[in-house]
Amino acid sequence: MHRLARELGLRGFVLNDERGVLLEIEGEAAAVETFLERLPREAPPLAAVERVSSRVLEPTGEPGFTIRESPTGGQPDALVSPDSATCPDCLAELFDPADRRHRYPFVNCTNCGPRFTIVTGVPYDRPLTTMAGFDMCDACRAEYEDPRDRRFHAQPNACPDCGPSLALAGGAAADPMGEAVAALLAGSVVAVKGLGGYHLACRAADEAAVAALRSRKHREDRPFALMARDLAAARELVELGPGEERLMSGRERPIVIARRRQQAGVAASVAPRSPDLGVMLPYSPLHHLLLADVGEPLVMTSANVSDEPIAYTDADALERLGGIADLFLVHDRPIHVRADDSVVRATSGAPLSIRRSRGYVPASVALPLDAPALLACGAEQKNTFCLARGRRAWVGHHVGDLRSWETLRSFHEGIDHFERLFAVRPEVVAHDLHPEYLSTKHALELEGVEHVGVQHHHAHLAACLAEHGERGTAVGAIFDGTGYGPDETVWGGEILVGSLGGFARTAHLWPVRLPGGERAVREPWRMACAWLVETQGLQPRLPPSLGADITPERWDEVARLCAIGTASPVTTSMGRLFDAVAALCGVRSAATYEGQAAVELEALVDPAEPGAYPMPSLDARPTIEALLADLAGGVATGRIAARFHEGLARATAEACLASGETTAVLSGGVFQNRVLLERTTAHLETAGLRVLRPRALPPNDGGISYGQAAVAAALTA
Ligand code: ZN
Ligand code: ZN
Ligand code: FE
Repeated sequence: MHRLARELGLRGFVLNDERGVLLEIEGEAAAVETFLERLPREAPPLAAVERVSSRVLEPTGEPGFTIRESPTGGQPDALVSPDSATCPDCLAELFDPADRRHRYPFVNCTNCGPRFTIVTGVPYDRPLTTMAGFDMCDACRAEYEDPRDRRFHAQPNACPDCGPSLALAGGAAADPMGEAVAALLAGSVVAVKGLGGYHLACRAADEAAVAALRSRKHREDRPFALMARDLAAARELVELGPGEERLMSGRERPIVIARRRQQAGVAASVAPRSPDLGVMLPYSPLHHLLLADVGEPLVMTSANVSDEPIAYTDADALERLGGIADLFLVHDRPIHVRADDSVVRATSGAPLSIRRSRGYVPASVALPLDAPALLACGAEQKNTFCLARGRRAWVGHHVGDLRSWETLRSFHEGIDHFERLFAVRPEVVAHDLHPEYLSTKHALELEGVEHVGVQHHHAHLAACLAEHGERGTAVGAIFDGTGYGPDETVWGGEILVGSLGGFARTAHLWPVRLPGGERAVREPWRMACAWLVETQGLQPRLPPSLGADITPERWDEVARLCAIGTASPVTTSMGRLFDAVAALCGVRSAATYEGQAAVELEALVDPAEPGAYPMPSLDARPTIEALLADLAGGVATGRIAARFHEGLARATAEACLASGETTAVLSGGVFQNRVLLERTTAHLETAGLRVLRPRALPPNDGGISYGQAAVAAALTA
């Protein structure tokens, strides 16, 4: 604004306040007009211009144009931005031998660079970032103070003379980047300190290196993410449409899950049995240098062991990753908040967020109604928390599974940090109804606040309604793995009719036992047994497709659990129906992560198969019977998988239509399944319904906290 005002010869001032940017300009009427017209068009890349409102004032005779100090005491909103990928200008400098920042791994400017992960407090100013320990040299200072410079007020501004530098942990290296690149090319696993945490890297084409990484990380099958040098390199790995390319090269730089190419040339261990690959582009100058020097795609997976949170402090990384990484490429700019890579999946229509974290957080998400100052504690797995006030909700970074001490600590620290950043002192605390969720326990421990319990699937429905600005009633098909039902059974295949303020359960999947509780999640064959008990009676036949490791003794034992119900709650979980079908199809009898069987079942779908299994009123017993008949008849599993998906899509659309509502919501973790999502959407739209799908927030439990916030806002309004 300063630049534009000067250019047009206007006088006045500009400042940040709690509502955004406040500006007064005076001068020739035509120049003022031009200013207002050019302002939104010429806003800098990271500015989010939501709206511009203006009115006419008496001229005050301001002598020049100034940038004024922000008034203190206001409640800040947009003062902390998400981390943003290296901009084209900085990238050009990075690879320009004549530039003073040639090959400097920390080049950044007002239009790009670290933000959220380095901010320790507000106002957003260098002393309250992890750059506080670096004094700008004269050249950097001059850029920082010059309103015409691209680095005017760029808080992390730095150069090789004054800023952070690279090193190898545990030794003095003349050329840390060169040694790390050599190690990668020689087949080593290198821990790389990035923006929101450490990655573990190795050559994606090197089967021995990838397999070694997998076994050291104790990660059995879950796919590893890849980093490709640029879009051209990414196109060799996965099939990308224009939408996916925009997403992948956007400043948020998420991991984009897309269909892998036959000739992708990556090691088999990168993503065993997955038809998709997750690929991202470099998002920090350090990554750009690394990928350019290695010259081929790298595995870049979060640096952790098994399901622990990503390592982000140097001491923690050295300790926890010592047995995994051969070499540590580190630097001396501390990471204040860990932020995992965000993940999106390309689908027809709109991309689907799977994990919303680095690059997106802490940008606020609008609420369609005014909220009191509130905290929503989220679910148990894929946890995020959410703070809200007025029409704004700040959904935190991906925290993960709270059932680990490290993650729980990060949940508490994250909430404290956000309360300070956005000056929210919660009067209302929203939580799940599950009494054993650690997020629920945290909420209930807070005193002097109003508690609002929100049913899990209502929160899924509300999250999708709220992000679309919808305050009316809709029918929601909410399909996921687990959620606490008010009747104390495990819900997860629900048709709900409701709005932000309440809901009714109008239909649900046929209920079965969850034999052995949690064990059934890791052993999908148990769900096959539970469904066969429903269709064949208390002593179902052991289907040969389950494989030899399911002995008749184990089978009978699980069938007995279903009959007597010990430690086997009743469930309408759609995730578990997918597990049962996948097990019956011989996809897998054991899973190493939740939803694995369903992911592999979706991958089998034969797109040319037009058939569908019956599922009247979401009763899947006839589905299972038809599927068993196909199996016995030797029908290919690709066709069986397709008939199952199509049958469920039709049944879901019918259940939604039966409600008489004209707007339908599709959410819950099961809708990460692209085939199911696209086909159900198509059936509903053909029938004339408006279909809302999660966009900004994931359909999985990462979106629960925002949904809880929307419900709590409606109930306390
Ligand atoms: Zn830049
Ligand atoms: Zn400098
Ligand atoms: Fe859920």
